[in-house]
Amino acid sequence: MVSPVDNLIRALARLPGLGKRSAERAALALVRKPDVLLDTLVAALQEARATVCCCTVCGAFTSKEQCPCSLCSDAARDDGLLCVVEEPSDIVAIERSGGFKGRYHALMGKLSPAKQTGPSDLRVRELAARVARGGVREVLLALSTDMEGDTTGGYIGELLKPHGVRVTRLAFGLPADSGVGYSDPLTLKRAISGRTDV
Ligand SMILES: [Zn+2]
Repeated sequence: MVSPVDNLIRALARLPGLGKRSAERAALALVRKPDVLLDTLVAALQEARATVCCCTVCGAFTSKEQCPCSLCSDAARDDGLLCVVEEPSDIVAIERSGGFKGRYHALMGKLSPAKQTGPSDLRVRELAARVARGGVREVLLALSTDMEGDTTGGYIGELLKPHGVRVTRLAFGLPADSGVGYSDPLTLKRAISGRTDV
C-alpha cells in the first residue's frame, strides 16, 4: 500500500514545474507544518475547485461570480483588437508583458492531426461568431511557433477572410517550437508591437 505521504508526493509531482525532488520537498514541508501550510493549501484548493471557471467569452480563468471576466468587462480595453491564443495561461503571459490592451479569445488548444484535435474541438466557431458580430478590426494570432501553431493560424486566417478583418501574427523572435507561455514578458511585448500581417 502506498503511504499517504507518498501519495501526496505523487500528486504534487504531476504538476508542471515540479519534479520528483521538489514534489518530495514540498510534500514533507506540508506534512511537517499541517496547521500553517497544509490547511491553507487545502482551503485554497477547495476554493479554486468550487469557484474557478473559464470565461464564457474569452476563455480566461475567472470565478463563477465574475463571468464575463474582468478583461472582457473592462471598458478601457480596445474592442477592435482581438488576440487569439491557444490556452488561458497564454492570456496571463500576455497580460504580464503589458503590451496588449485589446480583448482575448482562447481556442483551448491547437489543431493537431497527431492528437486528433480538429476545429470542432477548439473554440473556433465562437471566434468566427465574435468577429461576425462586428466591431473587430484586427485579429492578432498569438500562437505557438511550431507546425501545429502554423496550421492553426492558417486555418483561422482562411476562416476569417470572408469577414474582411485584418489578421496579424506576432513578430518573429519568439523561440522556435515554443509558445506564448514560454516567452519572457519583454520578448512578448516586442513580438506584439512588431506584429505583421499574415
Ligand atoms: Zn473573458
